[in-house]
Amino acid sequence: MTITTRFAPAPTGRLHVGNIRTALHNYLLAKKHGGTFLLRIDDTDAARSEERFVSAIREDLAWLGLNPDGEARQSERLDLYSRAFDALRAAGRIYPAYETAQELDLKRKVLLGRGLPPIYDRAALALSDAERAEKEAAGIAPHWRFKLDQDAPIVWDDAIRGPQHFDPAQLSDPVIRRADGSWLYMLPSAVDDIDMGVTHVLRGEDHVSNTALQIQIFTALFEAGFGAAKTLPCFAHEALLVGAEGKLSKRLGSLGVDELRAAGFEPMALTSLLARIGTSQPVEPHHEMEALAAGFELADFGRAPARFDDAELVRINAALLHRAEFAEVAARLPAGMDAAAWHAIRPNLTMLCEAGEWWKVITGPIEQPDFPPEDRTFLAQAADALVWTDDPWPALTSALKQATGRKGKPLFLPLRQALTGRDHGPDMGELLPLIGADEARARLRIAAGM
Ligand code: GLU
Repeated sequence: MTITTRFAPAPTGRLHVGNIRTALHNYLLAKKHGGTFLLRIDDTDAARSEERFVSAIREDLAWLGLNPDGEARQSERLDLYSRAFDALRAAGRIYPAYETAQELDLKRKVLLGRGLPPIYDRAALALSDAERAEKEAAGIAPHWRFKLDQDAPIVWDDAIRGPQHFDPAQLSDPVIRRADGSWLYMLPSAVDDIDMGVTHVLRGEDHVSNTALQIQIFTALFEAGFGAAKTLPCFAHEALLVGAEGKLSKRLGSLGVDELRAAGFEPMALTSLLARIGTSQPVEPHHEMEALAAGFELADFGRAPARFDDAELVRINAALLHRAEFAEVAARLPAGMDAAAWHAIRPNLTMLCEAGEWWKVITGPIEQPDFPPEDRTFLAQAADALVWTDDPWPALTSALKQATGRKGKPLFLPLRQALTGRDHGPDMGELLPLIGADEARARLRIAAGM
């Protein structure tokens, strides 16, 4: 079987870590099996959908490396939904309802007040033809509900949650179309999943009860002649994402992809983290999507919420950079920075943008601290002792050690401060050759006050 998955965002806002996690998992599931990953823009709600968010979704997915194999927009498929609607209506599975939002709200409150579940009472189904005609004559346009088959228990084996069971009598017939003819999410999504041959519906567990309803919609559509294979997709509902302390953090967790990108995170740091949190697998930095896909297993997902920890994202970002090859990052490094410089500085990076600061340390000018007289004398000795070999740092430090008796911090720190202007940083053995003989000697002389 070839696998087809889809990511189906509504273009009503920017993508954030919660929904890119869903996109990523659908991508990885498809790629692992050489399948197809589709982007479906759920833009039936014309009032809330915005074109700028459609573009933003495409850009964000591209930045993350989640390139879809195909794209569809629900707003361009309305005829198909109308055909499905007509077929289901002809089959007696859709009925008009005339209650106002206030009336429905009141019904719900009455039931809840009596301690009963707020299930729609199907009053509209009991209307006679004459009563319906009367409503229509009074200018009341109906909204439309899908009629659940109350005798058909709803069961599926969820690829994450295991066996699921719903009693349709405990569910309200879902409203699928508004009085103005516009579509709610429920029917178009099922129609599209059938029409696009979606084999795996992988989404957040906030959709579990929608799945219960949609399984009956799928089945009714099959019976009405939709779909060639007439098999339900495999459903998988992942536990929601929460922050380290429960709620998603104000800092990173609630940020849009655009902001995380602007903050300088590596896309593979985000995907490495989001691919594995909530699973039994360790979170490790991955440099390639193929490796993430190869290890992706729905069976490894747990039922407990997945914890998104800002500090972990920062850690993964750093770990990724520490092992990143020059070619991977070259295009984003300061002009002139070569592979040797990259190798010297990468262990000190948390974010790639810090490469610029270290490049300045190498190329200069740098700002040195004021040294006490004894260090100035020592640094003057260093300037004289600097002999340029293939490996000048060990040569310099052992010569100075012998000449001055200094060792440890008193030996190394003034040298580092004079040569880099910093107390900490990359390995001096790698840095010194990059600074170069003349520049290094000049820095030592300035520090010595020579
Ligand atoms: N547009 C829906 C959402 O963003 C899609 C849900 C689904 O994957 O079916 O919640």
